[in-house]
Amino acid sequence: MAKYDNNFVDELRARLSVVDVVGRRVPLVKKGQNYWGCCPFHNEKTPSFSVNEEKGFYHCFGCGAHGDIISFVMNSEHVEFKTALQELADMAGIKMPDYKPKSPERQQLEDSYFGIVEKAAKIYQDLLFSDSGKDALEYIKKRGFTDDMIKKYRLGYAPKNNIISNKFVDVKQNNLLATGLVRNGDYGLYDFFRNKLMFPIFNPKGQIIAFSGRSLDGSEPKYINTTDTEFFHKRYTIFGFNFAREEIYKKNRSIIVEGQIDAIQMQCNGFGETVAPLGTALTEDHIALLCKSNRNIIFCFDGDNAGQKAAARACSLVLPFIRDNSDVRFAFVTGGKDPDEVLKSGGADAMNKIINDSLPWIEFLWKHINESYLVSTPGGRTQAEKFLENELKKIQDKKYQYEIEQEYKKREFQEWRSWKKVDTPNIKMPDVDLITKNTLVYIVNNFENLASQYSDFLSSLNINFDEQAPDLGWTVTQAEKFVVSLKLKKYLEILENERKEKMQAMVNGENYTNADIAEINKKITETNQKLEKLLYME
Ligand SMILES: [Zn+2]
Repeated sequence: MAKYDNNFVDELRARLSVVDVVGRRVPLVKKGQNYWGCCPFHNEKTPSFSVNEEKGFYHCFGCGAHGDIISFVMNSEHVEFKTALQELADMAGIKMPDYKPKSPERQQLEDSYFGIVEKAAKIYQDLLFSDSGKDALEYIKKRGFTDDMIKKYRLGYAPKNNIISNKFVDVKQNNLLATGLVRNGDYGLYDFFRNKLMFPIFNPKGQIIAFSGRSLDGSEPKYINTTDTEFFHKRYTIFGFNFAREEIYKKNRSIIVEGQIDAIQMQCNGFGETVAPLGTALTEDHIALLCKSNRNIIFCFDGDNAGQKAAARACSLVLPFIRDNSDVRFAFVTGGKDPDEVLKSGGADAMNKIINDSLPWIEFLWKHINESYLVSTPGGRTQAEKFLENELKKIQDKKYQYEIEQEYKKREFQEWRSWKKVDTPNIKMPDVDLITKNTLVYIVNNFENLASQYSDFLSSLNINFDEQAPDLGWTVTQAEKFVVSLKLKKYLEILENERKEKMQAMVNGENYTNADIAEINKKITETNQKLEKLLYME
């Protein structure tokens, strides 16, 4: 920070109103002395974010975020001090003082690189509308691309012959090779992209850094991308991000689709917040990039098996980024279609329906493990539990992690150990009173292992365990004592009923003897002893 003299920073503060700077991102309404809006640093629906124009600072009464124009740009855009200053200087129309210039070699390489790829993009663009690009143009028009879309995304055509290696003969060979557009072969340089429909890949600033080429003659692979270069790293680059950036901020969410044509069609049909990984698998760096804006992501996959697998992988990758206020969802496009086809046949409404039907990650993960493991068997449940345990460990916020674990424990218990599904047992259980019932509901919902251990007995009681019960704050020992003593008492009730019936039967002259009664009496005495022992046990 010290590298900038305070005069410059002061000048920025003097020239720019904090209301203007904040107001670019947050709609503000003046109330009394201050301006108010919904805080961009935490999730809220009613404004608690205030901006004081006179003093030049903002303050959030909800999360405590506080600062001035510089910290606002740094924190809302997740940029460094220097970048924030640059942006504010641009906004104020003043020049930034010079700061640690790049080495001349580096600057030269950078200039040459961006110069070459930009020129190459123009060549490809022109060729798309030439005779040789006819097939490519026809193909992309068939895919529903308008001229405006072709222009905006700067689509092009790389011809069958070596155009780049021929047109850039005056460029230093190493500089040309550094772009990945040409390769060195036995007969000199040759073009990497040949007979391809070309999609430029942009960096977040909107500069072209690489290309993705789609094969036009049915040859595999369908897409090839520039291999990594000094200025292009596949694992950090998401297709469409430069166009989607602002929308991701405004809509407070991003959508990830599988292919770049899908991403473009989504962006042009009302889903400007859509991006796609570059034909390769999604990486955690892609997610990290999106999470700089917000942690609300909708993953959109094919409904088929491969799509489910990819979704499970994405879920695993996104878990370390999930916060207690994140909205991460999984949407599935069914019927063998992709978003591009959905948009074509049903428009934005059809796509919105798919997004509205998306599963929150908690539901998706639950569904996934239920489909991947044989949870009707103890072994399958064990595997599922181990998998889940490992996945949930990735959640950074330990409190949130605990809450999610509890949520799944509840589901495992209610859905896997199938309480409600147990048929009425042979022995008719006497009804329990309300206090006993509430106590049992409390126990079942708070002591899963115990409930599981005594599941046969508990499920014989005809109690709806889904109800709410007051928290008794018991220990597991207290709870177990209660369940066991109740079980013994219920057994006693059954024995006494049996004795009564048999004595009545004897009176009625039926075939019972005193020995039968003595047998029951013995059981009653034993049960009473057990109960007594239990009740006086510490
Ligand atoms: Zn806040």
